[in-house]
Amino acid sequence: STENDNTIFKLEENYGAHHYDRIGLVVRQAKGCWLTDEKGNKYLDCLAAYSAANPGHHHPVITRAVMDALTGNYASVLSNVVFTDPLGIFLSKAASFAPQMAPRFGNHGNKVLPKNGGVESVETAIKTMRYFGFKHKGIEDGKQQIIVFDGNFHGRTICVVSFSSTPKYKHGFGPLIPGFVSVEFGNLEQVKKAITPNTCGILVEPMQGEGGMRIPPEGFLKGLRQLADDHDLLLICDEIQVGLGRTGKKFAFEHENIVPDGVILGKALSGGLVPLSVFITNAKIMDMVFSKGSDGSTFGGYPLACVAGTAALKIFEQEKLAEKAAEQGRILKAKIEQIAKKSVHVKEVRGKGLFIGIEMKNGNAMEFCRKLLKFGLIVNDSHGHTIRISPPLIINDREIEFMVKQLEKVLAD
Ligand code: PLP
Repeated sequence: STENDNTIFKLEENYGAHHYDRIGLVVRQAKGCWLTDEKGNKYLDCLAAYSAANPGHHHPVITRAVMDALTGNYASVLSNVVFTDPLGIFLSKAASFAPQMAPRFGNHGNKVLPKNGGVESVETAIKTMRYFGFKHKGIEDGKQQIIVFDGNFHGRTICVVSFSSTPKYKHGFGPLIPGFVSVEFGNLEQVKKAITPNTCGILVEPMQGEGGMRIPPEGFLKGLRQLADDHDLLLICDEIQVGLGRTGKKFAFEHENIVPDGVILGKALSGGLVPLSVFITNAKIMDMVFSKGSDGSTFGGYPLACVAGTAALKIFEQEKLAEKAAEQGRILKAKIEQIAKKSVHVKEVRGKGLFIGIEMKNGNAMEFCRKLLKFGLIVNDSHGHTIRISPPLIINDREIEFMVKQLEKVLAD
């Protein structure tokens, strides 16, 4: 690397918290599916910031919308005592973007609560499940329980890491937050056993990203839906990573034809340009849980993020990103499976759409990721054993071909 790169490494080394294990690459530009370093070397982005860059980096329409807001002087954060055009427009777009949530509570439409990073909207969902338990089910406040799943990843706040099954995420950060019961991902029997009169909700990733690109057995989501109905629980899907087309459908819960009671979106919601996340639920539930003063956020729903969000949702539809992910994912997965057959290193290939995991036999995925970087691919590992492949959904045939060639060189070596 150049001296200049070294300077950048040093700045982080000296002045940043060391909470990330980075690969030694300084990216100077990002456009579409490609990242460029200082020397002009180009890398195919096979991670897309874990789905945040679904429409491709600096999508021209979303970038233009952001620039217009900045130059038009309607982008900055305002006091939450005033209305803004971008917020209202974004809320209505996001509300109708999802199917009617929790239809058993009536056809009231959806309401949306916007925040910034994804984990903040996970917290909103947790508040909603707990309040629902208290108000609607009559559970004593403080006794509410939420069922979650081993291997989950919902972010890094104290509350959310409290129910992580990864010790490193919470070790030494106590006291942790009670009220969560974690059971095996994909195991309906365990869910059933975990339900008590104090259970108010189930929080699930329809497919686990950080947890190793894991897809639950068929019928799992349907079974959760049934259990939630039988016991009057809120079933909330965290689609921050797998929603917005990633798995070949608008929402990953559509693979099992279910409708949850609430959904959490983030990452690609703004096209990856501005932090933006939302919790969406039935209007009746949102109005039951949140009253004036009961929640808030300085930047949540500020104009710049909303402008980006509205543009990103339009692009999602106009460019048929879910359909593209389904089509390109089918081709890419078939090709990776071919490579896996020739490889002594690969244990399993799994995935849906452009959400693909390559599990390695020796648990040494990062070693292969570092090799792949030399061949022009940016990839990362998940839990040490699985290479994650999740490129921007706009990836074209030529780029798929390039990725496959490089994967073949490294994996079938
Ligand atoms: N939930 C899921 C499924 C995620 O994949 C992530 C991030 O990777 C989060 C929540 C947390 O989002 P954020 O890092 O924006 O807080």
